[in-house]
Parts: sequence; structure tokens; C-alpha cells
Amino acid sequence: MKRANTRPVRAGTVIIGGGNPIVVQSMCATRTTDIEATAAQAKMLHEAGAGLVRIAVDSAKDVAALAEIRARVPEANLVVDLQENYRLITQVAPHVNKVRYNPGHLYHHERQKTVREKVAFIAETAARHDLAVRVGVNCGSVDPDMDAKFEGADPPGLEGVTAMVESALEHCAILDDLRFDRYVVSLKDSDPRKVIESNVRFAVVRPEVPLHLGVTEAGMLPDGAIKTRIAFEQLLSRGIGDTIRVSLTLPFAEKWREVEVGRQIIADVEAGRFRSVPQFLEGGLNIISCPSCSRVENEAFVDLAFKVKEMTAYAKEYDITIAVMGCRVNGPGETDDADLGLWCAPTFVNLKKGEQELGAFPYDTVLDRLKEELDRLIEEKKAA
Ligand code: SF4
Repeated sequence: MKRANTRPVRAGTVIIGGGNPIVVQSMCATRTTDIEATAAQAKMLHEAGAGLVRIAVDSAKDVAALAEIRARVPEANLVVDLQENYRLITQVAPHVNKVRYNPGHLYHHERQKTVREKVAFIAETAARHDLAVRVGVNCGSVDPDMDAKFEGADPPGLEGVTAMVESALEHCAILDDLRFDRYVVSLKDSDPRKVIESNVRFAVVRPEVPLHLGVTEAGMLPDGAIKTRIAFEQLLSRGIGDTIRVSLTLPFAEKWREVEVGRQIIADVEAGRFRSVPQFLEGGLNIISCPSCSRVENEAFVDLAFKVKEMTAYAKEYDITIAVMGCRVNGPGETDDADLGLWCAPTFVNLKKGEQELGAFPYDTVLDRLKEELDRLIEEKKAA
């Protein structure tokens, strides 16, 4: 496996790119304010082989907890996603080794400021605190201007890829202009085909920029590992990818499996063993579910995801996507593109058909309601 000649980007004690071993990442699913549990999970992921461990930070309490977690697990390299609040970097910077920002999230606040000003703020703060940065483009939340500009630019099945790649290239150009080169890029989607296409296209234009690979909301085992493997095999075997994250829906205590699956895929590709079953590229029922993070408000979400998979198995030959998401922050938006979507609140589950809201249901009755909708959808497909 001949790796692309990317420049090295250090994040704490690991170096991403520059021919160094591929860094496997993972994320804590525990509530960040539960310092005991999150420190234990960060330690567990680090010991399982995670070169970088992400922790979700949404509030001042989370920032305070992060400082304590940092002190308790100094051996782990920590990452925080800035989400919609790029200024969060000033609070988390002393406690982490890397931050991720999403170009599509720089548009929500402070509209009087330009994107370049916001990126400059992130880059300056990162440089001052010895941090690496990931420019994390996600198909579900691409910069709206890019989306509008490149609407219709892609063939069916690859919609949004051009906007993703152009958004990443734009941010690389801004960072280069700011003379900040300690960055990596990710281009993620829940569809392995889009992950392959966007990363290949980006790597052709910017071969020296290290790439972080990931298939978002890949779902549960074994399907989640299979979808991820489809993308990673195609990319790693072409020398593309310096760091990876496998996103699986797992019981919290089993998050280490993300690292295990990632390491196994790397080992297989390095040994020339290709195992992917391209069943997900051929249509049929597709369950996507989020890997869960500290934003999950009810761990029953994980159990629900497994039950949805079990209950809907009878519809496997139909081209239907069902999304199961763990929180109210990303759940509503991330279910928009699915035929049927469920996003979980503390005591109820919201059910959607595309963008249409069908109502909120208790955890123990939502499956029956989902089945009704699924049966209706199957009838519609048969009639079409
Ligand atoms: Fe975390 Fe919510 Fe995303 Fe799931 S959907 S990974 S709970 S932010």
C-alpha cells in the first residue's frame, strides 16, 4: 500500500500524514460532565489504540469537566468539535491537542463577520496553543452557498459531492493564505460512494493535505463495519487516508470496538486482503444510525436502534433508508434525507417521514408506529 505523500501534522503525541502509521480515532459516548465515566472511557479508547479521542463539549460545565478529564488522562490526545460555536476554541484550547471545525457551521452566528475572519480566529488560537485543526466537511451540513452554487453538478447518487470538495478546497486556500498549515481535512457522508468520490477528487487537487477518513452514521455491527470497509478499502488501497474514524452505534461500554474495527481494516488493506461486500451499493433497506456521543439524552437510544434494525428486517429488498439519531441537536437535521427518521429525546422519540414530522412517541410504542409507516411506504413503492 503506497501512501500519498502528505505533509506531517502533529496532534499531541501523534503525527498524522508524512508517511507515519495511520492514526485511528474514536469518541467518548459518555456524558462529558460525568468526569469519572468520560475519563474512564477516554482511557479505555486510548488503551485500545485510539491515537486521538474526541470529547463533546456543549456548555461551560462541559469545559470545566474537560479540564478535569485532561488532568486525569494526560496520556490520551484529546479533540473537541467546535460545532456551531467557533469561539469555543478559546475555552477548550488549553485542554486539547486538536480541534475540528465544520465549514458549514461557520454561517450560523455573527453574520457580520466574514468566513475568513472566523477561520483566522481559529487558526491564530490553534497556533498559540499548539493545536492541530481538522477542516471537517460533512455532506449533511455543507456551507449553504456552496450547496446552491453546485446544485445539479453531480450525477444521481453522488449529489453534494462537488459542493463538499469545493468547500474543503476553499478552506484550505484560506488557511494557506493565513500561513497556517497544521491542518487535515475530512469529507464525510453516510454513503460510502460519496466518501470515496469526494476524497479521491480532493486528493487529486491537494495531494499533500492529510485526509481523515470516515463514513458517518454507519450504524450497527456488522453493517456499519461493512459500509466503512467499502469506503476505506477503496481509499486506503490508493494511498489516500492518514487517519480514520469508524463511527458505530454501540453500547457505551463497547466503544473500543470502533478502534478494533478500524485497526482490522488497516491491517487487512496493508496485507492486501479485501473483504468488502458491496451489498450497500446495490440498494435495499439501509439503516443509518449515529455513533452516539455525550449528547445522547437517553441510552435507550442504542437499544432502540438495534430494535429498529430487527423489526424492519422484513423490508430488506426495498430501497428505503431509515435513520435513527441519538439527540435533539443533530437528530432533526440529520434525519431529513432519510425516508423514515427517528430522533431521540429524553422521554420520547420523534418520528419523521422525510422532512415531515409525524409526532413524538414513547420509547415503547414508537416501533409499532414506525412499522405502520414502513408498511405504507412499501405499498407506495409497490404502486409506483
Ligand atoms: Fe451525538 Fe447527536 Fe450526533 Fe448522535 S446525532 S453522534 S448523539 S450529536
